[in-house]
Amino acid sequence: MSLTSGRRWFVGILAAATVAPGLPALAQKPLNVVTSFSILADLVREIAGDTVRIQALVGPDADAHGYAPTPGDARSVAAADLVVVNGLGFDGWAEKLVRASGFKGRLVVASQGLATIRAQAHGHSHGHSHGHGRAAVDPHVWQDPLRVRQIVASLADELAALDPSRADAYRARAGAFGRQLAELDSWIMSELAPIPAARRKIVTSHDAFAYFEARYGVDFKAPRGVNLDGEPSAGDVARLIREIRREKVRIVFLENVSSPRLIEQIARESGAQMGGRLFTDALSGPDGPAPTYLALMRHNVVRLRDAMLAE
Ligand SMILES: [Zn+2]
Repeated sequence: MSLTSGRRWFVGILAAATVAPGLPALAQKPLNVVTSFSILADLVREIAGDTVRIQALVGPDADAHGYAPTPGDARSVAAADLVVVNGLGFDGWAEKLVRASGFKGRLVVASQGLATIRAQAHGHSHGHSHGHGRAAVDPHVWQDPLRVRQIVASLADELAALDPSRADAYRARAGAFGRQLAELDSWIMSELAPIPAARRKIVTSHDAFAYFEARYGVDFKAPRGVNLDGEPSAGDVARLIREIRREKVRIVFLENVSSPRLIEQIARESGAQMGGRLFTDALSGPDGPAPTYLALMRHNVVRLRDAMLAE
């Protein structure tokens, strides 16, 4: 599925067609970039605008954890100049697809070089894990805008190496976007500052918030681990419900990438309220509330803040 509108693709092609005379046509051919999921596609778009073609294999509101690539995805990857995946087990299928497709371009693992955080032991608060709670690194690095700023700087270098004629423009746009990410980080700090410690507790569908938690001091619990695969056991769900009651967690959130059934059951049985929908692992469509990374983070933070402050 493509994030870019047909019109935008067209503009890119037209821009490429109106090259300055004397320059080799090859240098002006727009780069073909494929990303595993929608948030990475938006980061590339922020850096490169309409000068590249961008395709996200997993599009808006879709779950990338358990995605099964199609033959069309293999063709897209084989034709790409640059493939960007998240890594850390989030989109292992994409790395396999790159190896199987005959891809000859440049593969970038966005999370490479970032400081990572281990996921919490699941369903237990006494320091060990078993069942689906095996210790794992949380792959959701984009929940921290400062880590995203590092990713953006690396992606700008990759794009600049692939198209030196636009290197300055890529680096300038990446720098400007990096400043917006730093502003986003300060804004989140100030939005959450008035919330008392006892209210900084939220339940979501799966463990997607370790980086947000570490940066902004909000305690997240979830019935599912860092992946959306498998069903939590009845015992794990019952334990979480007891924990919600004991710790007086008041708000439970849906996620745009998972079914609402389990989280609605948990709200019903724990007495917590439903706090609306968070955009965790995917953007919304263009007409939704989170069509870009910046909009996604602002949407989530406003929902989280309002839920934690509500009487
Ligand atoms: Zn996830």
